Amino acid sequence: MLVLNILVCGGAGYIGSHMCHWLQAHGHSVAVLDNLSTGHREAVRWGEFIRADLQDRSSLDQVFAGRSYDAVMHFAASSLVGDSVRDPVATYQNNVTGTLNLLEAMRRHGVGRLVFSSSAAVFGEPRADLVDELHPLEPINPYGASKRMVERILADAAASYGLRAVALRYFNAAGALAGAGIGEAHACETHLIPNVLRSAGGSGPKLSVFGNDYPTPDGTCIRDYVHVADLASAHGLAIEYMLAHEGFHAFNLGSEAGYSVMEIIATAADIVGRAVPFEFAARRAGDPARLVASSAKAERLLGWKRDWTDLRSIIESAWQWHRQQPY
Ligand code: UDP
Repeated sequence: MLVLNILVCGGAGYIGSHMCHWLQAHGHSVAVLDNLSTGHREAVRWGEFIRADLQDRSSLDQVFAGRSYDAVMHFAASSLVGDSVRDPVATYQNNVTGTLNLLEAMRRHGVGRLVFSSSAAVFGEPRADLVDELHPLEPINPYGASKRMVERILADAAASYGLRAVALRYFNAAGALAGAGIGEAHACETHLIPNVLRSAGGSGPKLSVFGNDYPTPDGTCIRDYVHVADLASAHGLAIEYMLAHEGFHAFNLGSEAGYSVMEIIATAADIVGRAVPFEFAARRAGDPARLVASSAKAERLLGWKRDWTDLRSIIESAWQWHRQQPY
């Protein structure tokens, strides 16, 4: 078996920590770089931990010196759309400049493969029921624009320097591996499933459902929820793909199935065994009515196959994690 040495930037975060679990479980060697601005030290359970900031170029040299990485996986970013609208420069600084610094350091130290955490936000307002990779890239907020910019930078770096890079565009990451002690733990939680579970479990406030006048069957937004462990496996396949293919490649990662906010609430209530207290609130700026991926390209070219195929088991896994939390 091929054993790889992987640097996971942002490995103390929600998706990054599940990635480290996957890498360890598949026999690879992991090092985590994180500045712990939103990540958690206790989520770094596999491999070496290096506390460093992508904004600090000199410390990046120390991260790469004396180590030999086969590839970098890059999860470290500002990930909240609302924050990006309030302070776009901070988002561009963190997401774009941080990635440029990382790319420079990789180049200086001869590391030529990168898997980049991109997002459905690169597409903006979807024009198709199933969004595939040919859909125009028209981000409508600074967060999506920062991801789009990095994709472009990676394509240029691939053409000019021979970097091999894969951008994986997540739709809605969900679920947890509670048995491994990792899950979604944001200090300021904005995501639907954790908020629904906190409301149902009594540890959170009444849920605000942002908009019930969308052009969808029940009036609430439809999203495509994918288990984080399945996102992690796609990264493993992306590394294999880069070993065999030059250039830059982008893949959408979704389930091709959409669920409305009200469907998430109903499923969570059934799992928790309690009603979810909620109220309808105004639409949240920048939310498209429906965002569902075609994952045909990832399935065809990467051989990606999801293990978590039904919504109920995904939400159940998140609930297992949430009920273990002290709050
Ligand atoms: N949402 C909601 N209440 C919340 C959090 C989210 O109604 O407390 C809605 C949100 O407007 C969107 C969907 O749930 O339609 C998914 O939002 P989330 O923030 O989880 O992911 P996003 O799709 O924005 O990446």
